Amino acid sequence: MSDVPPSHPRYASLLTREKVVEGVERGITGLNGLIAQGRGEALDYLLGEKTTPPAEEAERAAAALLLLAERPVLSVNGNAAALVPEEMVLLARKIGAPLEVNIFYRTEERVRRIADHLRSFGAEEVLGEEPDASIPGLDHARAKATRGGIFDADVVFVPLEDGDRCEALVRMGKRVITVDLNPLSRTARTSTVTIVDNVVRALPNLITLVEEMASLREAELLSTISAYDNRAVLRRSVEAMISHLSRQFPDLVD
Ligand code: ATP
Ligand code: MG
Repeated sequence: MSDVPPSHPRYASLLTREKVVEGVERGITGLNGLIAQGRGEALDYLLGEKTTPPAEEAERAAAALLLLAERPVLSVNGNAAALVPEEMVLLARKIGAPLEVNIFYRTEERVRRIADHLRSFGAEEVLGEEPDASIPGLDHARAKATRGGIFDADVVFVPLEDGDRCEALVRMGKRVITVDLNPLSRTARTSTVTIVDNVVRALPNLITLVEEMASLREAELLSTISAYDNRAVLRRSVEAMISHLSRQFPDLVD
């Protein structure tokens, strides 16, 4: 990134892209992670590359769910490990949850590298290297999970998760929080709480909210959750894209 000046209008986006490339070079992120990032970038462009009010609302509901959870677990894949390792470790510490490495194109080598990467940021409990359970309804390679981790969790935070696996977790009765810039994806439509925001903005926001909301009474957290409507938040996220486009490109979009 040394050759891109911070004044470049798309600096933040280019920096994020660079981190994913670095993740691939270090054997943390799979090649498919580059394609996923490209998709995310396109959608973030439509959103104006900022946290919208519906994303903020989803982040609040997510923070409430994490604070109330009995057995929360934070899932980390190759893109999350490249983009927000430090933030995932910090969030885990704030809510007292383990991290679990959970990657779509699983190789034992990459799982180990991601776990080591998280430990290098001070992670205390990293699961996923020795899966001992299977999520029902998924093929063998994709189903791997850990007892005491994702398998037994009541609330799972799975940023950038695949649609199928997300559905399988919901079928197990878990409350699923995801971060996905695509409000139309199966992941987005299936999850309990969908944060339509870039993971690089969502994680710092979540950490701040968990800090702020930690002092709230249980009843207040419960009412935040019961007032939350994911379908409405997805609809408003799509509207946020359309209204951003019509403001930014009035001659092209009305
Ligand atoms: P579906 O959920 O419909 O099955 P998919 O699983 O085929 O979609 P993938 O490419 O596997 O899509 O998942 C990547 C998803 O993650 C995309 O929806 C993309 O918008 C989103 N995404 C990629 N990078 C980021 C990011 N940095 N922050 C937030 N979301 C991102
Ligand atoms: Mg998906």
